[in-house]
Amino acid sequence: MQPHIIWEEFLKIVKEESGSQVVETWFKAVTLQEVDLYTNSITLAMPNSFICNWIREHYNELLQTHLKRLLNTPALHITFLPHHGKTSTSHKGEYALAYPLPPKEQPLFRSPHPSVTPTEVPPASSASLPTRNNTPVLHHTAHYKPACTPNEHYTFNSFVVGPSNSLAHGAAYAVSQSLASCYNPLFIYGGTGLGKTHLLHAVGNEAKQKNPGIKVRYETADHFMNEFIKSIRFDKGHEFRERYNSVDLLLIDDIQFFANKEQTQEIFFHIFNSLYNQKKQIVLTCDVMPEEVKGLQHRLVSRMEWGLIADLQTPDLETRIAILNRKAEQQNITITPEVAAFIASRVNANIRQLEGALIRVDAFSSLTGQPIDISLARRVLLNSGVGSGNNARNAVEMNLVTHAIAEHYNLTVAEIKSKKRDKDTTLARQVTCYLIKKLTPYSLQSIGTYLGGRDHSTVIHALTKIEERIGKDPVFEKKIKMLESAITSQ
Ligand code: ADP
Ligand code: MG
Repeated sequence: MQPHIIWEEFLKIVKEESGSQVVETWFKAVTLQEVDLYTNSITLAMPNSFICNWIREHYNELLQTHLKRLLNTPALHITFLPHHGKTSTSHKGEYALAYPLPPKEQPLFRSPHPSVTPTEVPPASSASLPTRNNTPVLHHTAHYKPACTPNEHYTFNSFVVGPSNSLAHGAAYAVSQSLASCYNPLFIYGGTGLGKTHLLHAVGNEAKQKNPGIKVRYETADHFMNEFIKSIRFDKGHEFRERYNSVDLLLIDDIQFFANKEQTQEIFFHIFNSLYNQKKQIVLTCDVMPEEVKGLQHRLVSRMEWGLIADLQTPDLETRIAILNRKAEQQNITITPEVAAFIASRVNANIRQLEGALIRVDAFSSLTGQPIDISLARRVLLNSGVGSGNNARNAVEMNLVTHAIAEHYNLTVAEIKSKKRDKDTTLARQVTCYLIKKLTPYSLQSIGTYLGGRDHSTVIHALTKIEERIGKDPVFEKKIKMLESAITSQ
């Protein structure tokens, strides 16, 4: 496994937690240069000592929390190296100070090798570092991509299609084949980690490959907003708008960030109109449907509804297994079908978590030298709080519950997750909410997302309804108990 995969994972989490500005400003230019799983230590290379000090002072905890989880380690030593690129030369001053501190400041982290004198700290970017006890010492050299261009890792080829995403995938592919002629705008929505960003980049990459001359612009909504604010501050509003004049394909990710940002919505509205009138393609993603974005102007909502709205649902077990196998293959991780099925059945909230689980399992296997088998996967997932071997409640997954209820009510899982509102489907869906809540550790929000992108208030409503009915109707109560025990005994 490559350190850059862990680092990319880390960047995704930070982006979700703190927004893309933090990533762009501080972490984008940082490289995870070395991961030593034997000593639980990593080296981060920074472009300069200002960024180095800032990150160490302000983001220490964030780094520790997420990297420890991603590397599945209870402790982590971080070495901060400023001026990457220079570290492989025998510049004594730089090695001597693995922590680039002003003279009076004390190091925040202890060296993973306390007995090693500073000059013995090996040059971090040297390609011929030894491995310790056969534990791999991994290196990575940064690849920088210009801003606002699609990330070429996210392609249609690497996107696994299943019932949960076939509509969005099909629409995105159609758009990439013929810009501004079928669905304009294309609006893709769905819960976090379900593939929105992946599809958006894939449209950009595919369209570019088909028409090499075209101008494609990808950006997140909060990048758009920050650039816009900057442009106003520096009196460059006109230049800001001009950037979009010659764009053939505009891809804006996570437009829910526009909520309540009146001025940003205003400028976006004009850009949208101008591109649309010039028959240029626009693709947008969002975590909910346009009408559900609170604080989005009506005129924008209605424009977003002009084209096609396609949703991404939580993938079923088969799709999760296929995705896991694809990711393992891409990252040269060998997993048996049993392990893939095990991980996929334990991690069902979203695909990002699925990837994270695979990375942790692989890291743990490298750390301990054990092969990746079910018992190792179980230990890793248990430690990281995903799934559980000894807590029977956690072991019952959302899918298991839904399948059992669908079968009982003679429906399909897709119908339970669908928008259908007839009496039987609604009741089955409410029972599903109730039993998932009772038998699994998932939050109201993730249950809602899983059950067709509903919000947590819908889940609360369902729980109340079922509890009320249980209180009033002993036959119904018995039925629920019977369903519950059928599920837990599986
Ligand atoms: P979102 O933008 O919806 O939060 P992302 O597009 O960032 O989610 O997806 C999270 C991760 O899951 C990415 O690494 C992406 O490549 C992967 N992923 C999502 N859906 C699929 C899929 N159908 N096939 C393969 N990988 C996927
Ligand atoms: Mg995204």
